[in-house]
Amino acid sequence: MDYFAYRNGSLFCEDVPVADIATKVGTPVYVYSAATLRHHYGRIAAAFAELSPMICYSIKSLSNVHVLRLLRELGSGFDVVSGGELVRAQAAGGEMSKVVFAGVAKTDAEIRQAIDAGIGLFNIESEQEFENVARLCRQAGRSMRAALRVNPDIDPKTHRYTSTGKKESKFGVDIERAERFFQTYGRVESLRLDAIHLHIGSPIYTADPYVEAVTKTLAMMERLRGQGFVIRTLDIGGGFAADYEAGKSPDAATYAAAIVPLLRGRGLEVILEPGRSINANAGVLLAGVLYVKQGGERNFVIVDAAMTDLIRPALYGSEHFVWPAKLAAGETSPPRQISHEAPGGVKVDVVGGVCESSDFLAKDRTLPPMQRGDLLTIFTAGAYGFVMSNQYNSRPRAAEVLVDGTAWRVIRRRETYEDILAAEITKE
Ligand SMILES: *Cc1c(COP(=O)(O)O)cnc(C)c1O
Repeated sequence: MDYFAYRNGSLFCEDVPVADIATKVGTPVYVYSAATLRHHYGRIAAAFAELSPMICYSIKSLSNVHVLRLLRELGSGFDVVSGGELVRAQAAGGEMSKVVFAGVAKTDAEIRQAIDAGIGLFNIESEQEFENVARLCRQAGRSMRAALRVNPDIDPKTHRYTSTGKKESKFGVDIERAERFFQTYGRVESLRLDAIHLHIGSPIYTADPYVEAVTKTLAMMERLRGQGFVIRTLDIGGGFAADYEAGKSPDAATYAAAIVPLLRGRGLEVILEPGRSINANAGVLLAGVLYVKQGGERNFVIVDAAMTDLIRPALYGSEHFVWPAKLAAGETSPPRQISHEAPGGVKVDVVGGVCESSDFLAKDRTLPPMQRGDLLTIFTAGAYGFVMSNQYNSRPRAAEVLVDGTAWRVIRRRETYEDILAAEITKE
């Protein structure tokens, strides 16, 4: 569900024709819908309301500070995975008690930064990390809270690069080791271990892996409580899916229907860390068509966006629905299905200009005939889109625009050549 729709043959984001934005800001450009962000955040909050969860939006999925402010205004806390993300949470006016800090490689500087900021919870991923964070808390004369990230050995049936809850994953500690972990560290004063954290992968297209992971974890938690340990909080992580194709992912209520009954009445504070399910459908990437050409049997639509702007197809083989921002005369609004074919269309690969064969945005799609100057829309690009962009081939990063009703504004300007050189040439 989102607020991108064709009206009289032109794609609108809420009440703004996306072509207007492309004309004024140029391409490539990311366009986000505030109404869509609010809608998905609201659906998650409503679906899990019975548990009064603390929602900690995953900053890494879409980290623009204006988007963070919008979510903070809705009551969101933040899930951060680096010192840089903590700075973003602060810049967005985030409440530090609603910040959780995950990641297997927290440096001493990042840990001190989080202690100084007074974050709510460290999500701890190893024995050595616990000892280090506890040491730095003692040094700072502070007592902080920690959750143990448990690896429940569940296969979430997602891409191997985004599966994080299996035993051989680098994240968390094995569930068998968790009890020992509490016995060793469960009574440390500078770092109070009174919470459990899970994050099993992303995107997860059914509730089953959550049910399996939460059930295993609750059993362990009861054993720990039996040994006198206090467990106040269960953080079930993120990973809810998004509609890369229309109707493909369950909505928040479907996940909640399976998860809430497991958690109600247990005296647990519940934390959720959604990212993609809030923002994936809230963003599109607009690209201008530069050239159309043939190579052997293949037809290429060459656009001004590239893997440097959206790396998901190259990195994970992800498929985004791609369609022109302007429909042909008489063409109806396309269903957002990867396999959808334009009548009289041409089978093409949509590629960028980076010197890598993996630089493609879509493969084997039957699009309407495209011409130089046309505007192409890459849908469901809000999550892990701009945030993974880079300057490879010395390409300035794209602009980001936020639409809200009839209003829109640039929330990150397009980078310039000065930006490209900024860290290398210092003015004296
Ligand atoms: C990436 C991540 C999330 C968010 O995942 P989504 O699929 O975007 O919901 C949540 N928690 C942790 C620890 C993560 O690493």
